[in-house]
Amino acid sequence: MIVVMGQGSTEGQVNAVIKHLTDRGLKGNLSKGVERTVIGVIGPIAPELQNELEVMDGVSEVVRISKPYKLSSREFSAGDTVVTIGKAGVKIGGNNFVVFAGPCAVESEEQVLSTAKAVQAAGATVLRGGAFKPRTSPYSFRGMGEDGLKILATAREATGMPIITEVMSPSDVELVAKYTDVLQIGARNMQNYPLLDEAGKTRTPVMLKRSFSGTYEDLLLAAEYIMAGGNNQVILCERGIRTFETFTRNTMDINAIPAIQRLSHLPIVSDPSHGTGKWYLVTPLARASVAAGAHGLIIEVHPNPDTARSDGAQSLTFENFAELMRQVKAIQSALQGVVIG
Ligand code: PEP
Ligand code: MN
Repeated sequence: MIVVMGQGSTEGQVNAVIKHLTDRGLKGNLSKGVERTVIGVIGPIAPELQNELEVMDGVSEVVRISKPYKLSSREFSAGDTVVTIGKAGVKIGGNNFVVFAGPCAVESEEQVLSTAKAVQAAGATVLRGGAFKPRTSPYSFRGMGEDGLKILATAREATGMPIITEVMSPSDVELVAKYTDVLQIGARNMQNYPLLDEAGKTRTPVMLKRSFSGTYEDLLLAAEYIMAGGNNQVILCERGIRTFETFTRNTMDINAIPAIQRLSHLPIVSDPSHGTGKWYLVTPLARASVAAGAHGLIIEVHPNPDTARSDGAQSLTFENFAELMRQVKAIQSALQGVVIG
């Protein structure tokens, strides 16, 4: 249930609504937009609550929502959420488009630094790199751990680019958050609820990736865990899903981009690297994602993809990444001035 306060409602009226909710064992989650204030009601809702709230001073409307997620839902926020990343203040969401790029896994300082400089020169503004790698096989390279985080921090120092890196375990959240500007929660962990709870306790932005078999509702409910903890800086990511097709690693669900924008106010990024699994499909799917309205792209780039310790087949060379950026810019300028939605 969402309580929409009328224009010109007073702080006292807002507080009275929140007190009413608290008295009934519920929680009121306040969102102050430029035009209106809304209160999301969290907890088990009794049928009479709607009528009780509707007659309170300053209340304009009480909307029952059948969707099980609230804080992440489009109705909850007056506008698109804009997430601010790192000291550099990189903004994503609304009209702000961001490209995250870098290697799948941190392998060495030289590898990360050279990639950071190359992707920055091509127009990326956030550096990606995994230090804790979720690998399908336990015998694959599983990342450098804290040493990898230190390398990322060095690259941030050298380039000024904020960093994004994955956290896999609730007990690592504090450590990873100490280094990173964005916590990445991977597809395999989208429904790792203790991890989501832990990420919700931080105030570090979180990129939450859709799982192989997660529906949009599953994804938004997972985002809800983070937001219910008080961290509303959530970026969603479509990275392809499992289908019967085996030629590509996953099937890139372009539908998800505009569909989730209809359901949620959170920014949504496209990951055509994991979505396709093949480097030569990454740029075409990046173009499609931008045309579909994605708020950003996350792209794997490696100085020498043939020798990459993780996801080399889907990693772009520096040259191919620069070409992707040129093509993305062409799509963006073709759409300039076109009203979408
Ligand atoms: C990654 O970004 O390297 C990664 C492991 O992604 P996903 O969780 O989408 O598989
Ligand atoms: Mn990867």
